[in-house]
Amino acid sequence: MSTGPVSRAAGDSIEDRVAGAVDAWLRWVPGWQPGTHRGRSRMCRRCTGSPVLQAAGIEGSVPHQVAHALTSRMQRIIDRAVDEYTERELPHLQAELSGEQLWNTGGYEPGAGLDPEYDGLDLDPDTDDEQPFLFTLAGLAEETRPEPPLPRPPLSAEEKRQLVREIELADRFADDAGRQLCFAITEHRDRIRAAVERFVEPQIQAMLEELSRHLEPPR
Ligand SMILES: [Zn+2]
Repeated sequence: MSTGPVSRAAGDSIEDRVAGAVDAWLRWVPGWQPGTHRGRSRMCRRCTGSPVLQAAGIEGSVPHQVAHALTSRMQRIIDRAVDEYTERELPHLQAELSGEQLWNTGGYEPGAGLDPEYDGLDLDPDTDDEQPFLFTLAGLAEETRPEPPLPRPPLSAEEKRQLVREIELADRFADDAGRQLCFAITEHRDRIRAAVERFVEPQIQAMLEELSRHLEPPR
């Protein structure tokens, strides 16, 4: 097993976390059914062209919900690794983020505490001009966010410079973690493919058969 800087720095390695997240996804897949989630018309930024899905060997071959449940679990691993690195190595960025948190807490956060299957998806249905919604979750979040008590103190030029530098470092770290994660997930391709073949493909096949029955002309 490779131990790059990312895995050494983290308490447990990226490889361990990927193995655990793939296990969790494999436990989730057997319960998946088509149409249990709302369909979406917009492209998902997390899944479209995702290197994770490519590395996992299921790019473009599974329904979005199944792919999304995997990419979200992987995204959480990267986010956590970046958070840990920021906390440990990037004091200015850490201070900025904690300040941001202090200034913005208290509002309703519609995305907080969601299962990974829903992570990063639009929470509100697409708007329909004929039937506008009375309220949306995004609108509610905006309305309940308390006014900041005071304007945030401005950063000095030097603090800004350090912050920019640390943001670059965090970006670079996230890229490295992403590459390492993709490498780690290739180890699990067989398990992932097997679960798709066993639990997902038969359901899609059944759906297509059902559909073609309805499309047959009446006799
Ligand atoms: Zn997605």
